[in-house]
Amino acid sequence: MTDTDAAARRDQAVRAAVEQGLVGPGVPLAALLDVTGIRASARALTSAFAAVTDAPVLHAFAVKACPLVPVLRLLAAEGLGAEVAGPGELALARAAGVAPGRTVLDSPAKTPAELREALALGVAVNADNPQELARLDALLASTATASPLGLRVNPQVGAGSIDALSTATRTSKFGVALRDEGAREWVVAAYAARPWLTRLHTHTGSQGVPPALMAEGVRAAYELAEEINARVGRRQVDTIDLGGGLPVNFASDEDSPTYAEYARLLRAEVPGLLDGSYALVTEFGRSLLARHGTVLARVEYAKTAGGRAIAVTHAGVQIAVRTVYAPETWPLRIAAYGPSGRPKAGPPVLQDVAGPACFAGDLLARGRPLPRLEQGDYVAVLDTGAYCFAHHYAYNSLARPGVYGFTTSPSGVRFAVVREPQTVASIVAEAGGATPDALLF
Ligand SMILES: *Cc1c(COP(=O)(O)O)cnc(C)c1O
Repeated sequence: MTDTDAAARRDQAVRAAVEQGLVGPGVPLAALLDVTGIRASARALTSAFAAVTDAPVLHAFAVKACPLVPVLRLLAAEGLGAEVAGPGELALARAAGVAPGRTVLDSPAKTPAELREALALGVAVNADNPQELARLDALLASTATASPLGLRVNPQVGAGSIDALSTATRTSKFGVALRDEGAREWVVAAYAARPWLTRLHTHTGSQGVPPALMAEGVRAAYELAEEINARVGRRQVDTIDLGGGLPVNFASDEDSPTYAEYARLLRAEVPGLLDGSYALVTEFGRSLLARHGTVLARVEYAKTAGGRAIAVTHAGVQIAVRTVYAPETWPLRIAAYGPSGRPKAGPPVLQDVAGPACFAGDLLARGRPLPRLEQGDYVAVLDTGAYCFAHHYAYNSLARPGVYGFTTSPSGVRFAVVREPQTVASIVAEAGGATPDALLF
């Protein structure tokens, strides 16, 4: 489905952001979140699974994709939970009011204190490895807990197109590598020895992993759960956590693949998973948020070098670090707007869209055909709602932009502050500004 409504809302929001002064000569960068779009994605996810199973499903949003409290709260209002990977993300989920029973802790490097906190709260924990299971054994000897507990397995089904985001390779750092010699037998015995181990977790990877490979990983987890339950003679594993990772189409406004397509693929490939014998957990991140974020940056200067047109803007490595360092893997669409925030027309000219940072590679696009950008225009960097502007990179001490959620109606655009812009004073404070003499021993 191509979401023309989303494009229209974006145009309306860009113009209103300029008119209302969220961006302008003095504030050259802002990030916008489309609240209507976020709600629509959450509903698409929920209804896609409801259409293929009557089993209870907890959709735990992967907080790392957009670690902003009001976003977590919005998703919770749509019925989603939270998947967290450390004390910071857990605190964000709690600040958003996500119930511990709707929160899942998955980090590969949990300290004893973090495990203790999760068990005390009743947050679900997926242990990563045998050493972590031993820590849980020790903690459970002295503590009662409401936490559902599971183990992450790596089905070793292989990599997608981006190695750094493929978690089910033969040598991945995550989970218990299921196809290693003796591993499967060890996992089954570990469950048999621990009646409290009731969940099984897998996550095949993120962007670049095709849905068919995700489904293969899920099938491996399902088959293992069936084997464990057959071995122990009861339905000890009652919940399967499928992970997240649905890829996002960064090339156009068309959602592909959709949640509905993925849910139908699971029904075709792993029918037993959806027959109601297991409760399910999902952990989608990027596919829920990426589309709904737009970075709006002012064109400070327009110049040429060696015949190449270059727009020097305020959007660069600090808001899209992956795109700058790995442009082939993480291309982003860019839309041009004029000084009043209206879409810019004109014959396409091949241009570089540069960021403000002091290194030559700080480019969000190279040789991109766009109407010729000029001083005072704006560029919108699309699909940046996940793993981009919420993942600030503090190069050149560039400030974190303000993040504003918006809704549109015929009478106008309403903005709400999600995160205030970072001030220069706070940059100094975070850089030890209160203790300038600290090193003068
Ligand atoms: C990152 C991650 C996710 C979310 O991945 P997306 O590609 O953002 O959907 C889910 N589960 C785990 C364990 C993760 O590490």
